Amino acid sequence: MTDVAIIGGGINGLCTAWLLAQKGINVTVFEKNSLMRATSSASSKLLHGGLRYLENFEIRLVRESLKERVFWLEHAPHLAKPLKILFPVYQDSQRPSWMIQLGLFVYDLLAGKYKLGAFQKEHVEHNPDGLKREGLRACFSYYDAQMHDYELGLWVAEQASACGVKILENIEVKQIDAVLGKIGISHTTSESGTIEHLAFDYILNITGPWAEDLINRNGIKTKAALELVRGSHLLVDRKLHEAYILQVPGEKRIFFVLPYKERTLIGTTEIKHTLGQPIVCSQEEQGYLIKAYNHYFEAAITANDIVETFAGLRPLIHSGEQLHKTTREYIFEWTGDKLLTVFGGKWTTARALAEKLTTEILLKERHKNELSKT
Ligand SMILES: Cc1cc2nc3c(=O)[nH]c(=O)nc-3n(C[C@H](O)[C@H](O)[C@H](O)COP(=O)(O)OP(=O)(O)OC[C@H]3O[C@@H](n4cnc5c(N)ncnc54)[C@H](O)[C@@H]3O)c2cc1C
Repeated sequence: MTDVAIIGGGINGLCTAWLLAQKGINVTVFEKNSLMRATSSASSKLLHGGLRYLENFEIRLVRESLKERVFWLEHAPHLAKPLKILFPVYQDSQRPSWMIQLGLFVYDLLAGKYKLGAFQKEHVEHNPDGLKREGLRACFSYYDAQMHDYELGLWVAEQASACGVKILENIEVKQIDAVLGKIGISHTTSESGTIEHLAFDYILNITGPWAEDLINRNGIKTKAALELVRGSHLLVDRKLHEAYILQVPGEKRIFFVLPYKERTLIGTTEIKHTLGQPIVCSQEEQGYLIKAYNHYFEAAITANDIVETFAGLRPLIHSGEQLHKTTREYIFEWTGDKLLTVFGGKWTTARALAEKLTTEILLKERHKNELSKT
């Protein structure tokens, strides 16, 4: 039987474990902390195509993401639901109405049969959350989906376990031997520091923001590189009736104001980050998000309204572009025949990524079997 080690218990590692196990592969997941406690539970909680990525012509990714929303809605309706999002356009918005309308039209077109609802022009009189009226030119609505990211990830872990995946938490992979297919692991809850060595047919490094660092520390060089960009959110003690996508005043960036667990979720930011720095929402980021929110809503919020903040690191493929233009695509890189590293990847597309990884492993296996027959 083929043995695969997956390093990383975030959504991408868990989905991959689940799909590989469905193909009869023996999978063990190693997570250095607890499952789903890093990037995958610090998201904007959106299962979305990524309307903004259309500006960077990331058509393949947008189309795949639009389709993938439906997988989650159909398989875990208790943890994911369609979400109507309002897109108000103001006189001073960086993007004019016609551009928004065109973007939404293309978004719906790319969704095809996976469309969750058609975009439309809304009546600006409908204003349950007290959006400022001055300069408001138009308001559009379109559909994506919202999820409980942490709980949905644990649901995937349950499915994976039911298929026979062995999940080990508080186990850090410290060493990787790409030639022999060996890893050195240690318990993060014990102080002994003892390293145990285990051998596998394949090792999948799906550690999100830590992927490049982990293999570099093992003397393995890669062609791809990661750019780590921190994104923070505020959870504010306000009940919200609608969901909004808004343009950050004076910037090309957008941010979301979303109803979440009877409160308002505001995010996100984009701050270059290096590993070792604390992954928390800074005072500056809090001020930035409060200011952006107050630009649009009549009833201003202050830091006193914040009930929670959280932050995560986007593992973006380094491209040298401005941060908001950096691709959200994912790529795989093999080191020899036994180690594969994942760079990038969104929550929404975790299952699609897992499907492609599964194909990679099955192809390798077939190739290996053919070679052994000759
Ligand atoms: C602010 C923000 C908002 C986002 N919003 C959305 C959104 O709304 N929708 C969307 O689709 N995507 C969103 N994303 C992107 C998405 O959240 C991430 O791309 C995705 O969660 C990455 O998952 P992952 O499994 O690759 O990484 P992670 O969730 O980070 O998992 C990696 C795991 O590997 C573990 N690990 C690391 N090193 C080791 C080791 N040596 N040994 C063992 N374990 C190790 C870590 O502890 C971690 O649990 C957002 C990202 C951010 C930062």
